[in-house]
Amino acid sequence: MARIAILSVPAYGHLNPVLPITGELVRRGHSVTVFNEASFEPLIRATGAGFAAYPPVIHLEDFSRTLKDGDMIAWIEMIFSATGPLLGATYAALRDDPPDLIVFDGVALWGEMLAKKLRVPSVSISTTFASDAFARDFGQFVQDTLNAIKLSPRFFVAVLKMTWHGALAMPSPFPPLVPRRGTKTLMMTSRDFHPPSRIKASSNFSFVGCSIAPHTRQEAFDFSRLDGRPLLYISLGTLHHGNSAFFDTCIDAFRDYDGQVLLSVGRGTDLAPYANAPANFIFAEAVPQLAILERARIFLTHGGLNSTHEGLWHGVPMVAVPQQLEQFHNAQAMQAAGAGITIDSEIHGQHVTAAALRAAIARVEAGHAGFAAAAAGIGATLRDGGGYVEAANRIEEVAGRRSAAIQPESAIRPLSGKA
Ligand code: UDP
Repeated sequence: MARIAILSVPAYGHLNPVLPITGELVRRGHSVTVFNEASFEPLIRATGAGFAAYPPVIHLEDFSRTLKDGDMIAWIEMIFSATGPLLGATYAALRDDPPDLIVFDGVALWGEMLAKKLRVPSVSISTTFASDAFARDFGQFVQDTLNAIKLSPRFFVAVLKMTWHGALAMPSPFPPLVPRRGTKTLMMTSRDFHPPSRIKASSNFSFVGCSIAPHTRQEAFDFSRLDGRPLLYISLGTLHHGNSAFFDTCIDAFRDYDGQVLLSVGRGTDLAPYANAPANFIFAEAVPQLAILERARIFLTHGGLNSTHEGLWHGVPMVAVPQQLEQFHNAQAMQAAGAGITIDSEIHGQHVTAAALRAAIARVEAGHAGFAAAAAGIGATLRDGGGYVEAANRIEEVAGRRSAAIQPESAIRPLSGKA
């Protein structure tokens, strides 16, 4: 039995793959405490793990705001600014009784630093592609530089707060910027699907495929609303909620669709304006996406890496309408695999048109069998990695003590950081 602290981040796209791994570690008898924003407590406790709340310095809304704008520098500043306070809080919670192992999300810089400061082994879990897979062009470089200058006072304060924790805790200066590295770094994708990157040659990175377990999701849906006709499923993920212009365009595009159209429009969205939509439309704030993808004919997605993986996993052809650059890269990988097509207008600041959406769906419909076979093919590589079970194996390897048998609950000594 190992005592494991997991430092996760407040975003569904990052937490969803970590939940099945957490549940598997608990099932094997380890004592697991997960740190995150307070609002994620029920989701985390449902895995059987303990929960500890971060101080309120980083929120789902921060991820949403910075990623929605596609401003990579603002996103980095958000991570830097959170790192000093989160490192301070988690160090205070764990220093007197350190865990055997720290597991951290690949963007949780404070997790990398905490493991170094406490001198315990660590495992990083990356839910994104490595950042070196995508060169930024000259225009983006200029924009990044201007944004960095604008935010330089905030960067200055953030770096001061980080360096205050001492040289021992300093993160690895070597690229790629993301993911941050642990003793071992788990890539939650397949080697076949990941674009070229220097990490592919490193034995410190393990590609373990997708971590998918429907029972770790809590979204509810009345499946009797699906009548068996072909289902077009539309979602912009969890960060781009409230994008009513896009969903209005979808209504225009698919009012004559020969089947049902299910739109997940985002938590907290008022559904009242959609009351007069055509009868073949269903609107929900959030749906159990994995169960929906089992029934979907085509997935119209923003190209978040989890959604892309989940579409491939289920062999569902996709049309991707990326809302920002990272999603564009994911969508390009999906298109290169032959699993669907990408419409790139939104990342160039132009709203996608109803005609473009209709044409893309018609194209995928016309070649459905081929797209579905390609999706299933690359999806198989995501399954073959072993997913959350293999991730738990690798974590146990680093912890240095594989569980021979499931321990009784009473034998587990909780971490002092447990709330
Ligand atoms: N998701 C869901 N129900 C919804 C919309 C999204 O369960 O109605 C899940 C989806 O299955 C995925 C995650 O939320 O696991 C979204 O992650 P992704 O990386 O695709 O996009 P992000 O929301 O981070 O932009």
